[in-house]
Amino acid sequence: MALGDIKGQQRAVRFLKQLVRRDMVPHAFLFTGMPGTGRLAAAFELARALECLDPQDSDSCGQCGACRKIDQGIHPDLIQVRSDGAFIKIEQIRELRERFRFRPFEGKWRIVIIQDAQRLREEAANAILKVLEEPPRGNLFILIAPEAQMLLPTIVSRCCQVRFQPLGDDIVADWLVRESGLSIEDAAEVARLSAGSLDAARRLTEEDRIAGWKRVLANVESLERLSLLDLFSMTAKWGGTREQVEKDLECIRLWARDLIVLRLGGNRPLTFELDQGTVEAVRDIAPERLFRLYHDIEEATRNLKINVNLQLTLEGICLAIKDSLYGKGDWHSFSKGRQNLPL
Ligand SMILES: [Zn+2]
Repeated sequence: MALGDIKGQQRAVRFLKQLVRRDMVPHAFLFTGMPGTGRLAAAFELARALECLDPQDSDSCGQCGACRKIDQGIHPDLIQVRSDGAFIKIEQIRELRERFRFRPFEGKWRIVIIQDAQRLREEAANAILKVLEEPPRGNLFILIAPEAQMLLPTIVSRCCQVRFQPLGDDIVADWLVRESGLSIEDAAEVARLSAGSLDAARRLTEEDRIAGWKRVLANVESLERLSLLDLFSMTAKWGGTREQVEKDLECIRLWARDLIVLRLGGNRPLTFELDQGTVEAVRDIAPERLFRLYHDIEEATRNLKINVNLQLTLEGICLAIKDSLYGKGDWHSFSKGRQNLPL
């Protein structure tokens, strides 16, 4: 692998390669973007391109001693800083500064990759800032964070920022087929749900959430045909721990968001592939009804955290969906309770 092999980040890669080619690499980069979009991989590939003993077209050769040492994680001039617990602590930065007293051991550069730079504790951030203000020669810092606003503006202003975009669904799907052995259809579905992040895609595959979400959507989409009695029996069989039901509600919330996007005719991609009956039902519904439904789902999710009965919550949500989509739309308060329902 080399810088040029990073997928879906052509702009960032082209920019980095240009700087290497022109020998204009600054002393600090800030790579921003969602986790799972290739920020860390690009940091390593940039390090290889700079340390490579036999660079090819301003990129690493992948074969030389320096390239191999970086692959194996034993290159003495490549330092990684990660959070120790929730934060990157001042001790870690002090240790780092000790090393700046010496020149790089082997390469032209010493490269420091700081992962989750947003976790720099205040003192640690100030210590890094001092280094960036008077950068020791031959050192390159690559800070990685989701967004620049999460760091001290004084740090951001001393870094050359490179943005990493969410990856295209096709790239995520290809990666899933290759790495997780998913079928092309399943990979396409997970890719759509992962919002352009390989990390999110991996989590979805590992937790087998897709199967869970399919089950939830099948329940929700069956509501049109169910009588109220069947609805109660369906929610009684729903099962799952509080944590599981929270995840199910998250799925229902995303589904309801899809309904709103669909109703408003927006260009935003839908999370799920909606069944035809649902698509038709949504067409004639006042958007306010969908907003209210969405709000009800959010409220139910919040209430779950303060120990509300799981089954009553699920019943409430299912009734709200059934009524919003297929009824008169006047069921919007869970607190009415089921005693008022004509059974
Ligand atoms: Zn090399």
